[in-house]
Amino acid sequence: MHVVVVGASVAGVTCAEGLRAAGHTGPITLVGAEPHDPYARPPLSKQVLDGSWEPARATLRTAAALRELDVTLRSGAAATALDPLAHRVEVGDELLAYDVLVVATGVEAVRPSFPGADGVRQLRTLDDALALRAAWATARHVTVIGTGVLGSEIASAARRDDREVVVVGRSGRLSAGTVGPLLSDRLLALHRGNGVDVRAGVGVRGVAHAGAGAATGAGVRTGAATVFLGDGDSVATDLVVAATGGRPRTSWLAGSGLDVSDGVGCDELGRAAPDVYAIGDVARWRDPRSGRAVRVEHQTNAVEQALSVAATITGSAATPASTPFFWSEVHGLRIQAAGTFDAALPLSPWPDDPDVLVQRDGVGTTTGVVGWGAPRAFRRARTELDRSAPVPVPVPVPVRA
Ligand SMILES: Cc1cc2nc3c(=O)[nH]c(=O)nc-3n(C[C@H](O)[C@H](O)[C@H](O)COP(=O)(O)OP(=O)(O)OC[C@H]3O[C@@H](n4cnc5c(N)ncnc54)[C@H](O)[C@@H]3O)c2cc1C
Repeated sequence: MHVVVVGASVAGVTCAEGLRAAGHTGPITLVGAEPHDPYARPPLSKQVLDGSWEPARATLRTAAALRELDVTLRSGAAATALDPLAHRVEVGDELLAYDVLVVATGVEAVRPSFPGADGVRQLRTLDDALALRAAWATARHVTVIGTGVLGSEIASAARRDDREVVVVGRSGRLSAGTVGPLLSDRLLALHRGNGVDVRAGVGVRGVAHAGAGAATGAGVRTGAATVFLGDGDSVATDLVVAATGGRPRTSWLAGSGLDVSDGVGCDELGRAAPDVYAIGDVARWRDPRSGRAVRVEHQTNAVEQALSVAATITGSAATPASTPFFWSEVHGLRIQAAGTFDAALPLSPWPDDPDVLVQRDGVGTTTGVVGWGAPRAFRRARTELDRSAPVPVPVPVPVRA
């Protein structure tokens, strides 16, 4: 049985490894559009951007390690079409036959639509991170558009490099991944305490790039710019980065007949069509508890779905569904969150440590736990949560290349 996995990042690589671990001995081909060895994205906006890691440290598995697993890595090769009836995927000029296909093509950064947006930088890939870091080497002032967690991490890395930083966002609240805006006040105080000028609740009307700036191949402009804000104010800056969300990478599936209305629609086992599965950021799985289709953009989810699909393909025991887990790092402070959060309910301090916050439902059951720079206490508090839910599978640690 030939398994073709399209998308060679954390979901795709974990699925290939999971297949081998579950005893699959047939051929596995891993098709990846990027020219690099598969790497993890979370360090890009943290250690790679602030320069504390060499980029190679974000590598998940080298091509050599995949060869040892007898996985054929086709890097720098994008899938361009799928024919699920014929069981063929088009990669460049080649039609690759599969018995089982796993779609793991993730998301791409969404470029905002205001005038001048085509000249702003974004952060999704290793190349983006390296280009951004190189660009702010000569910048004194950086403007980040977006009040989500990625915007916070970029602002934090720029401050660590001693740049002046403004964060601008349409939303009046800062968001922290799965916790949403419940930590907004804390995040705001953290940014302000670290010298970041936060303009939340103010949209961007446009960006004017100074004529002297050179356009790079991608259309991104270097040099001075003015960011015009929705409240009539403007910000003179050297570098503009937009962190304004992601869009599932499904354009290559046009005409395949798959449901790609917001990512690849799947059942609760990740099946999108006969012998076709989807996993990770690109996949919208049916949640058996709520019956709703849910797409999640977090690394732990990508790992779990990959292992679950590997188990389904090989007919081995499925990994149990686990507690959602998310983490971030802002100005050196580790933010961790396990469980689910309702924006309408408060977070309250955990009696053992006030830097751990818990959310309880109407009958007092702990449904979510947040660690605010308190990793040890967070681990202990999380057991409260795990007592009523299965233990999450660990996220694979990137290896040094
Ligand atoms: C900067 C950054 C920081 C993050 N930090 C955190 C964090 O702290 N915690 C957390 O939980 N999550 C974080 N995330 C999210 C996390 O990285 C994603 O959830 C995870 O990468 C999803 O993995 P994936 O394999 O599904 O998709 P992706 O990582 O997006 O990988 C998809 C791969 O498929 C390839 N591809 C796309 N189209 C094709 C095609 N047609 N043919 C072949 N290959 C293709 C792409 O090039 C890419 O390599 C972060 C994301 C970013 C961008």
